Amino acid sequence: MAFETLNGIVLRYANYRDNDRILTVLTQERGAVAVTVRNCRKKSSASTDAVSEQCCYGEFVVYERGGILYASSTAIKESFYPIREDYERLVSANQILRFAEIIAYNHGGAELFPLCYHALSFLAYGDNNPIDIELCSTAKMLCLAGYKPVLTHCVRCGKDLRKQKEVAFSKVQGGTLCDYCGVGCRVISALSAEALRRMILLPLPQMGRVKLPDNVRKELDLIIYEYAEYSFEQIIKVRGK
Ligand SMILES: [Zn+2]
Repeated sequence: MAFETLNGIVLRYANYRDNDRILTVLTQERGAVAVTVRNCRKKSSASTDAVSEQCCYGEFVVYERGGILYASSTAIKESFYPIREDYERLVSANQILRFAEIIAYNHGGAELFPLCYHALSFLAYGDNNPIDIELCSTAKMLCLAGYKPVLTHCVRCGKDLRKQKEVAFSKVQGGTLCDYCGVGCRVISALSAEALRRMILLPLPQMGRVKLPDNVRKELDLIIYEYAEYSFEQIIKVRGK
């Protein structure tokens, strides 16, 4: 039997039979995979169970049988435990991992894994508003998936919008619009557009620098998810629902 070692973050799990669990794991090596962990819900196997929780980062030694990946052993590397002790952190982590799962099957683990790893680290150990880390992560995931929004000029006519106080944002056209082209679209402050642009450019280890003013957070919370849901044609925002 060939064994393979996978390192990954548990995006979600489903209980299976009496004692088993099927994990959806975002791995560095293979992107998202389903791993069946046997007997992890037995009371006697507390150590195996620990890595079978959402958000946990662990090592999974797996083998394949009949097209199904089974874990032969697991080891926890990082539980991001403080996330589980704080409601706001937990819902933002859940939101990030939900979107990660949606794009994981098409966009692999090479870039998505470090993004999720850093996001969970800042959620667990940083002092940011969890929604700021969540919005930054979601904006970065949109870019990974090929939906990088245009934010410095009008997506239709090309007019430079960097001197304007407010700009229109179109989820349909994927970016900002000038007054003329953006009639009827949602309007956001130039500050929000600039904050979104900077969050996209920010290197992952610096995500802790994202500290959004309340009104910017509110505007971005709206347009980022409207844009994501329009682009992916499904409900993505589950926080607060
Ligand atoms: Zn225009």
